[in-house]
Amino acid sequence: MNNLIVQKYGGTSVANTERFQAVADLVVSSINSGVNVVVVVSAMAGETQRLINLAKELQETPDPREYDALVSSGEQVSAALLALALKERNFLSKSYTAHQLGLKTDNSHGKARISSIDTDTLKKDIDSGIVPVVTGFQGVNASGDITTLGRGGSDTTAVALAVALKADECQIFTDVDGVYTTDPNVYKKAKKIEKICFEEMLELSSLGAKVLQIRSVEFASKYEMPVRVLSSFSSTGGTLITNEESGLESAVISGITCTDDDSKLILRNVPDTPGIAAKILSPISKAGIDIDVIVQNVGSDKLTDFTFTVKNEHSNKAAKILNDLVKTLGGGEIELVKDISKVSVVGVGMKSHAGVAARMFKALAEKQINIDMISTSEIKISVVVSKDKSKAAVTALHDEFELDK
Ligand code: ADP
Ligand code: ASP
Ligand code: MG
Repeated sequence: MNNLIVQKYGGTSVANTERFQAVADLVVSSINSGVNVVVVVSAMAGETQRLINLAKELQETPDPREYDALVSSGEQVSAALLALALKERNFLSKSYTAHQLGLKTDNSHGKARISSIDTDTLKKDIDSGIVPVVTGFQGVNASGDITTLGRGGSDTTAVALAVALKADECQIFTDVDGVYTTDPNVYKKAKKIEKICFEEMLELSSLGAKVLQIRSVEFASKYEMPVRVLSSFSSTGGTLITNEESGLESAVISGITCTDDDSKLILRNVPDTPGIAAKILSPISKAGIDIDVIVQNVGSDKLTDFTFTVKNEHSNKAAKILNDLVKTLGGGEIELVKDISKVSVVGVGMKSHAGVAARMFKALAEKQINIDMISTSEIKISVVVSKDKSKAAVTALHDEFELDK
């Protein structure tokens, strides 16, 4: 549809009723400027985590169907509250859950993927001057059960709706006024990026910049949907995420990320035989655990050390699998280290500039920051460091590559 934007408001933007008033005013001012708006909302700040904690109080590993029914409920509250605030401003508005809209997903509870969206209802509403307010984060599987799209999933709902409705743009309103060279809450000298290409944003999101959920960027990139990150607290210009071709000058490094939810598993003195990596990693993957950075040391005495990282939430389960495995491997000791962090530098300019890695390692060395593991791709270099050094690492690298300039 022409002249249509999808606007998504995150948790902090709808933290209390005053914030709902402010968001309603923003929606109204967009409509008054002459565009049609479909709104997507997240749960009020802290609500999803509160619901997750409640579930875990009652069942250590909550049943996936009931877990999703529970944690998706915060979005329904937000959608209805915003519709009320819009009605109070004399606008026609209707809230919708994923079920009411036919927002279908696969069956992966907790990390479902959107498979189709029925846009008929939304299009009819827009034609009738109704402002639809849609619950983010949730979907419905083929059995009609509620699913959720993973933490931060309202971003993905918004971009997917923008794509399905052929909107002109998807606007993500949050508590920062754009995508920065690093998390502005971690380093004050972080600088706002005016425009960034999908490829770089994909890396930043996948490496820990939670400002956009990775799947939302995947959707946007695949369907070339421009995404703009804006603040709902100030009216400063945000960041546009778009194609590389759009006149962007590619910086060598465009951003730095760091994670705070990774663990490292070390398997020492395992037999150094062909196929050992597959033997160690296959059972982990089969258990649905994503493996991130992997290092196998050069063996000696027919023994080797093998290290890999996983998300904290999966680390105990992974350690248990390894414990069972070493009994069949014929030896090995396991160590689980939870306080690690992955710090990454990202930039498409790296493709044509040599020496970024050397500069990165030197800057870390000068600050006495020990590198545990290294992983690289065409446009990023990641290092695993101890968690208490992650801020110092981000700061050192931000200064080294002069990202504040
Ligand atoms: P919302 O609740 O609106 O979805 P999120 O908390 O999910 O908001 O995302 C916004 C947060 O992302 C910011 O407050 C900021 O701390 C964090 N963030 C991490 N990396 C970046 C970055 N490179 N640029 C901007 N924000 C970032
Ligand atoms: N409310 C969900 C969460 O906290 C989804 C979102 O905010 O995007 O993860
Ligand atoms: Mg978010």
